[in-house]
Amino acid sequence: MLHVSHYIDGKPTPGTSGRQGPVFDPATGEQQASVDLASVEEVDAAVGSARAAAAEWAEAPLSRRSQVLFELRAQLRARAGELAERISSEHGKTVDDARGEISRGLEVVELACGIPELSKGGYSESVSTRVDTYSLRQPVGVACGITPFNFPAMVPLWMLPLAIACGNAFVLKPSEKDPSASLVIAECASEAGLPPGVLNVVQGDKVAVDALLTHPGIDAVSFVGSTPIARHVYETAAAAGKRVQALGGAKNHMIVLDDADVDLAADAAVSAAFGSAGERCMAISVAVATDAVADRFVEAVVARTRRLRVGPGNGPGVEMGPLVTGEHRDRVAGYLDRAPAEGATVAVDGREHPFEGEASGFFLGPTVLDHVATTSEAYRDEVFGPLLCVVRVPDFDEALRVVNASPYGNGAAIFTSDGGAARRFQHEVQAGMVGLNVPIPVPVATYPFGGWKSSLFGDTHVYGVDGVHFYTRGKVVTARWPEAAHAGVRLAFPGAAPSETPSAGAR
Ligand code: NAD
Repeated sequence: MLHVSHYIDGKPTPGTSGRQGPVFDPATGEQQASVDLASVEEVDAAVGSARAAAAEWAEAPLSRRSQVLFELRAQLRARAGELAERISSEHGKTVDDARGEISRGLEVVELACGIPELSKGGYSESVSTRVDTYSLRQPVGVACGITPFNFPAMVPLWMLPLAIACGNAFVLKPSEKDPSASLVIAECASEAGLPPGVLNVVQGDKVAVDALLTHPGIDAVSFVGSTPIARHVYETAAAAGKRVQALGGAKNHMIVLDDADVDLAADAAVSAAFGSAGERCMAISVAVATDAVADRFVEAVVARTRRLRVGPGNGPGVEMGPLVTGEHRDRVAGYLDRAPAEGATVAVDGREHPFEGEASGFFLGPTVLDHVATTSEAYRDEVFGPLLCVVRVPDFDEALRVVNASPYGNGAAIFTSDGGAARRFQHEVQAGMVGLNVPIPVPVATYPFGGWKSSLFGDTHVYGVDGVHFYTRGKVVTARWPEAAHAGVRLAFPGAAPSETPSAGAR
């Protein structure tokens, strides 16, 4: 059986904790590998290696860092097929979808290649007589990334290219459910010429995470995962004096107004709800349809959902794979079992949807629940599976009120042909990423990604200029090079009129 372990100091490093976790093949339900779960001592070794490498890497010229990132891009592209297959076999998503996440991750590598431009400071000449002021950004030191199961390549690549480009060392703690992609990324980084220790991977669970959050050798913590853990990470690491960005869970709404193009909206809802079996932080899990369009919209969604092909992620023509674990599949199915008691109508029943594959796999077909009450658990909880709730509302005002009452604020979308309504939506909606006739508005790498409310703790979003700011510290220099007579002692702030200051009289 395959064994997944750590990557420290530029080489594969076997675990010594004696603790291991299972890695399943969700398409068969069988365990296909085991993953080492790090002890506090192993985390300490990974951080120590990063600390030792960080000082020299921080001095690496921008051109060198940029060259390593260009080469990392080439290595990742060369291994994209293999990486996609591994992701699919451990996560369950289709191979095509896995390729898509690699492409989105590569966008951030490409952004980081431009670090000489991104890290430019500012310069103001003559802020006072013969005095110039300029700003610099310098690395924070050692950053760590703690990442979720649902994007085992993309989310680490949201973080580590910019952290490294900014001159930091980085310790990655990937999800223990699909850990292999992290090792491919680390191997690619070594092949690309990244010095040993600048990127370390430590596999593990809560033990490893908590050790990182309080480790004195860690300066910055990037986290992506569920809201309860994001809150824990934010509170613990901030209390230990670290800068933290902690992205949490989501419940993304999509409003469908009377004047929407129903076919466009239905295509978008089905793609965004059931892609990757709904295990996406930007998945649409709630469609809020106005009464005048709701019947037509639900009919179009139901027809499309029934046609979806469910099966193993590497199966030809398969559009939706299994869920990540049997436990998670059963949890999602539980919502479906209980929904009618809370007033919902089961418009498409995922428990009855046919799938191509082994019965032992973690399959659950796509489900559409109609007439969902906003008080019900299927509406309130982040289900994180192939479950689309339709909430019916009388008008746009009520639709917007429903969206804004959600405790989450990752993405939100509207489907309409009314530019005025769309503009009001983008202005008033309480979410970090907004789609106008676009269901999953994930920003391209040049714009930051992040949510509001319980979807993000901290102030900077990931990648884009926010990423550069997160992984660097600002410094402002005020300089004077004397070329004339010294002006003498002056205790008052420059700019205060000499006659108004006590010290002026003393001069
Ligand atoms: P998770 O919160 O269970 O795990 C995330 C990471 O935290 C993993 O590395 C895991 O090992 C670690 N972890 C788990 N329990 C922990 C604990 N008790 N203490 C310390 N560390 C712990 O999330 P997941 O199930 O892997 O991923 C799905 C979640 O991630 C969903 O809630 C989804 O919305 C969210 N997500 C959010 C975004 C975003 O951008 N906001 C992106 C992707 C995923």
